Amino acid sequence: MNTIWNEPEADALNDTRDKATKIERETHKLEKRLCRETGKAIVQYNMIEDGDKVMVCMSGGKDSYTLLDILLKLKARAPIHFDLIAVNLDQKQPGFPEHVLPDYLKSTGVPFHIENEDTYSIVKRLIPEGKTTCSLCSRLRRGILYRVADELGATKIALGHHRDDILQTLLLNMFFGGKLKSMPPKLVSDDGKHVVIRPLALVAEKDAARWAQHRNFPIIPCNLCGSQENLQRKQVGEMLRDWEKRFPGRIDNMSNALQNVVPSHLLDGALYDFKNARATGIADDNGDKAFDAEEFTAPSLPLGHSGVQVIHMG
Ligand code: SF4
Repeated sequence: MNTIWNEPEADALNDTRDKATKIERETHKLEKRLCRETGKAIVQYNMIEDGDKVMVCMSGGKDSYTLLDILLKLKARAPIHFDLIAVNLDQKQPGFPEHVLPDYLKSTGVPFHIENEDTYSIVKRLIPEGKTTCSLCSRLRRGILYRVADELGATKIALGHHRDDILQTLLLNMFFGGKLKSMPPKLVSDDGKHVVIRPLALVAEKDAARWAQHRNFPIIPCNLCGSQENLQRKQVGEMLRDWEKRFPGRIDNMSNALQNVVPSHLLDGALYDFKNARATGIADDNGDKAFDAEEFTAPSLPLGHSGVQVIHMG
């Protein structure tokens, strides 16, 4: 039997189709962006080499799921061979749903290992009630993960920190630590035996969150230990999100700035030899024009501005 559509019904159907096409297009763009930014960080910092066995640390949060998912996609198309093994440390926090990660990991087909260590009881026993438990907890976790990496023969340990974690850490160190320092994308561990990588170093948190939502990852809540989220980190995170809302592109610019450091224009004599700076007598077109106003293009300034800010020196 033929169904005769009236006009409003046909319009509604078209609207639904348009919306579905738009969502599909956006999701495809998101996947491409995640793969591109992750691949860029891997190459830029030489994070993964031929023959590596990468231990992907899975907490059950959105970032670690996204990390594993994107690394699996990149592995399938990489010109080099590397292996992935997902590892979760079950710290025996009350209410930790211990079947969730194994069930998910089985469904992906990726090799995995669950390490059971009751660090929760140790932390509760050693830290007085009301004091912050994170530093002992993360120290214990770090030691266990290094041991597990050894036992599994992993050559790299991958963590799910993303661009926004890195920028928050930068600002926290500036505000509270008096240091221009963030989280490295790649580091050699304090015991000198492991290389830790952060392949999502250039990925925006909102992209990881949208991907986690799209893929419907079985997220495990991160407050099971009962510890409060670090208040300062939370505030700095909110500040960054607020900036981004008012000045789109600002977080990207900050991330680019971290990849484009000019030591001679900072104040650290250990990075630049100010003491021995002398006139050379040779003109240099790229040299510093100390008296000129420095111009900043700011395309994301609210309408009505010229888009160029001029900062007068001196
Ligand atoms: S939030 Fe809880 S699980 Fe995470 S480091 Fe702190 S104490 Fe450990």
